[in-house]
Formats: sequence, structure tokens, C-alpha cells
Amino acid sequence: MRYQIPGFENLSLDQKKLIYYLSQAALAGRDIIFDQNYKYNLAVRKTLEEISKNYKGNRLSPDFQKFMVYLKRVWFSNGIHHHYSTDKFFPEISKEYFVELVKNSKEAEFPLQEGETPDMFIERISTVIFDPSIAPKRINQDAGVDMIVSSACNYYDGVTEEEVEAFYNKMKENEDETPVSYGLNSKLVKENGKLTEKIYSANGLYGDAIKQIILWLEKAVTVAENKKQQDGLKKLIEYYKTGDLDIWDEYNILWVQDLDSDIDVVNGFIEVYGDPLGIKASWESVVNFKDKEATKRTGIISENAQWFEDNSPVDERFKKKKVKGVSAKVITVTQLGGDCYPSTPIGINLPNADWIRKEHGSKSVTIENITYAYHQVALGDGFLEEFAASQEEIDLAKKYGYMASNLHTDMHECVGHGSGQLLPGVSSEALKNYHSPLEEARADLFALYYMMDPKMVESGLMPNHDVAKAEYNAYIRNGLMTQLTRIDIGKNIEQAHMRNHQLIAKWCFKKGKPDNVIEKFIKDGKTYCKINNYQKLRDLFGELLAEVQRIKSEGDYETGKQLIETYAVKVDPELHKEVKERYAKLNLAPYGGFINPVFTPVYEGDKIIDIKIEYPDDYAGQMMDYSKNFSFLPAN
Ligand code: ZN
Repeated sequence: MRYQIPGFENLSLDQKKLIYYLSQAALAGRDIIFDQNYKYNLAVRKTLEEISKNYKGNRLSPDFQKFMVYLKRVWFSNGIHHHYSTDKFFPEISKEYFVELVKNSKEAEFPLQEGETPDMFIERISTVIFDPSIAPKRINQDAGVDMIVSSACNYYDGVTEEEVEAFYNKMKENEDETPVSYGLNSKLVKENGKLTEKIYSANGLYGDAIKQIILWLEKAVTVAENKKQQDGLKKLIEYYKTGDLDIWDEYNILWVQDLDSDIDVVNGFIEVYGDPLGIKASWESVVNFKDKEATKRTGIISENAQWFEDNSPVDERFKKKKVKGVSAKVITVTQLGGDCYPSTPIGINLPNADWIRKEHGSKSVTIENITYAYHQVALGDGFLEEFAASQEEIDLAKKYGYMASNLHTDMHECVGHGSGQLLPGVSSEALKNYHSPLEEARADLFALYYMMDPKMVESGLMPNHDVAKAEYNAYIRNGLMTQLTRIDIGKNIEQAHMRNHQLIAKWCFKKGKPDNVIEKFIKDGKTYCKINNYQKLRDLFGELLAEVQRIKSEGDYETGKQLIETYAVKVDPELHKEVKERYAKLNLAPYGGFINPVFTPVYEGDKIIDIKIEYPDDYAGQMMDYSKNFSFLPAN
């Protein structure tokens, strides 16, 4: 898919330049995410790209087409593991054919290691690609396994889960009120029997890519919109130069206070979903500017943040007495990079450090040019018609679905993640591998609970509660049924957001059974679910919100684990099969990704007089272009 950038032409020349420089910085770190996802991803990508450029055999054969599909999947997932399920995927060609491709790509520059013969190289790379026992999963969070040893992600080398925990627990022993995010920007390895962190920085790990990021950030500094934004960007550069996590916190405080700028950027090692222990962050970037009209809506939400906090069904001890600086805006994204490309979030709430959120607030965004692109596709694909329980549900979804899901995202990001507090002495990492799905559930439940509140209509956020009904229908339908389209038969649910969706839907289904709040029924051999009592469902959302907040505030690992393992992981195999079959008939792609627009400076002499914007539609072309112009890390 492509996304449009309405309003770009109304920006000033300096603003356009700022977006251009930040966009280049967003692309400069592309290799990092490939390497973080798995240590041989860059080698595989380079090998496949060299074949695609140089193979002299029959390029029209079905086998070669299948080879190209595999390459596109590797690009899409930033590696050889599915971006969502994190399972390794395989090309639909034989190993013999792959070897033939390599041998008939004479001019190719393959990423041979030192001392490696071509035959050894072929053996190494084809084993990585074809052997199902090598690196089967990027993130393995199965109960009872060593999550570090059994996960293929590249945040650790030669260490066990126990050693990782001991290493970081020791760091936390003298923790103060404002702890850094220990281990966030490094790889933990064992060298000569000793554990040591390899820090991501200009002179450390990933230095060659980080230097390029710095180069573009330095240009951005020269066209910053104001002093605050400029100070922030300078601080970010300082952090990249040193890898110092105290500076990272200082940067985040500056960033969260920069509210007047139109243009904004997320650029760094930020989200920890890619590490089974949730310690180490993947690299990502999102460049954007404010949608001023739509931001009036989120303005209402952030103005009422304290009211939402005070009136939530959560125990008083777990509420923030004073909600600080929750700012919310609707943004138009202009470039996606790293872990946010090509599959992108639709909302973001940062920074992640709890104490910064508590003392300095957080910035929350809804990315509306992306949600709009999704919505346009969804209107005509037949998905709703297949799975909705009634014509009334379909009509409601078409009328209010877009508004409802944007509002849900606003509430989830702005007040959901921002709500609540930990009891003194409770670590934000107490929930370990269950932290991510429970945190997402907390934010979703906060949003869902308030969607049906009179306040939403009174404050002008929605015209009536049919909007909330549309959201409840969509949420329960997705959590109980339709998200199963994304899971392979025989597999469990792994991804944090999906675990969260099923947790909420299944828990409410079970707890509401005596009152028939949610009903499953079969019509013409097809399963549907419908909501019989929206008000009672709202009460259940409130009840679960109170419990999940308690679990987080008290750091109650055991109950958190039990909730997730009971409701969020296992799927009903019969229903799963049925949903997959119905879905297959629609012939839709289960995931969507976005092609970035391309910015090109227009020069007069050596002066930039304009930034031109184009919307390419050739995904493979964009990938080859990125690999040519933004490959800064060694591939072997
Ligand atoms: Zn979230």
C-alpha cells in the first residue's frame, strides 16, 4: 500500500528540509533492524539481492518467481522470520535450485566470510535458509524453555536466561528513583567467560550505520523549528555518539517537552517487543508532522486526562494523583524506518521509561494517514460481510468504524498507557515476558471502558454511542475470531497485541456467560459472535481493567502469567480451521505494509529551493534502492 501526505505542500521550505533530513536519518539505520532480528539476516538479504541482480538463467520460470517471493518476504519481515508470528519461513523452492541460482549468478558479490570458499559459503547460507532446526523462532516465550537460548534474535550471544537476569538484577541493586533503562541499547555477550555489553553507538556496535544517522541529524539541527526542538536533536546526537543511557533519558525529557513544533520524529532504540525478556530495544524511526485540524479531537482527550484517571474503575492506590503532561496529537507520517517499516503501528505513546512518564508526561499520537489508508482498503474487501453477525453490524461499522477505531487509538495511546502508577518499590520489569501483552491489555481496556461513557458524547468526541457499539463489535469479533486468520494452523498466539486481544475477548466471553453478554451462534454452518448487552460488556471491561492495573501496580507476576496462559495463548482448533477456510475464500493478504514516499531536493546552484515528493508503487524497486544507498553494515 501507499500512504499519501496531505498538507506537505503547505509546509515552509525549512520544514520540508527538516522532514527530508529526518527521513534520510530514518533510512540510514535500516541494516540495524535486520541484524538485530537475526545474526545472518544481512548475509541472507545480500545473497538474495545479488542473485536477483545477476542470475543469468531463466528468470521467467515459476521457480524463479517463487525465489522472488521469498526475497520480498525477507524484505517485508526485516529478516527470515515472520514479522508477527516470529516463526522462520521458508522459500518454496528446493535447496538444489537455490544452489543453481548462486552458481549461475557469476558477477554477484556474495558476502563470503574470511577464509571461506564459495562452496563453504553456499553450504552455510543454504543451511541458514532451509534447515528448519536452525533458528526456528525469532522470539520463543514458551513456558518452561530458556527464552534466550531458544530465541534467534540477536540481542544476546552465548548467554542463558538465568545469566541475563542475574546480570541486570545486579545493575538494579542500587537503583534510585530515576533509573536508566538498563541494557536497552546493547548486545549482551560472553567473552572469555565474562558477560559484557556491546553498546550501540557511533564508536561501538552498529557504529557505521549510527554515524550516518548522526550525519543527517546534524543537518536537521540547522533547520530546526525552534530552540527546544534543536536542543532535543543535539541531545539525540550526543546519545548516539556515546551510547550513554543517562543522556538518552535527558533526550526523552527534552523530546516530551517539545510540544510547539509541527514536525516531530521518533528515532532510536525504543520498543522491547523483539527481546523475549523485554530488555533490549529494536531500532526504529517515524518522521511526521501535526494534523492541526484532527488534533482538536485529541486535545479534548488530553484536557480531560485527569478526569479519566479519577473516574476509572481502578483501585485508588493505583491511580495517578496528578496526571502530568499527557499530550496527544494526530499526525501525518512522512517516513517510516527500521522496525516501523513497512509494517507500521497506527498509534505511538512514548517515552517508555515509567519515571519519565510520571514526572514529565508522555507524547501520544494517532497516525491518521495510515489508518485512512487501511480503512480505504477495508471498505471493499468483503471481510466485514463474511464475519459480521448481522447487516446491522455491517452498517454500523461502515458508518462509524473509522471514527471508532481512531478514537480507540487516541484513548489507548493518550490516556490508556499513560494511566495508573506502580506501588513504591515495584519494578516495571516485574512481569517479565508477560509485561507486553498485559500493558497492551491495560491500555485497550482503558479505551474500551470509556468508549461507552456519557463523557464521550458530552464532550463532543462522538455524536452518539453507536460509535462505541461499532468499536465493541469490532473488538470482540477480532479477539474471538478474525485475528485467527493471521495464525498458522496448529500454532498458538505469540504476538503481544494479539495475546492482548484474545485475553480481553475470551475473558469477557467467559465472565459474561451467565448473562449471555456475548453470544456465539452458528448460521449456515458458520460461527458468529454478537454482543447482547453492551452495558454489561462495558462493566466487564472495567472489572478486568481494575485487575490488570492491580497486577501491574503490585508486580503480581504469578496472576499475570495465569491470566495470559489461560486466556491469551491457546486457540480453539476447530474454530481456527473454520475461520482460516472462510478467510481463504476472500483471497486477501493477512498483513499490509507501506511503501515510503520519496523526497528529492531541488537545487539552484548549491542551494536547496524545494523538496519534491513522489509516491513510488514498486516495492522491490524501493528495497533495491535502499540496499544500494543505505547499506552501512557488513553483511558477512
Ligand atoms: Zn499500546
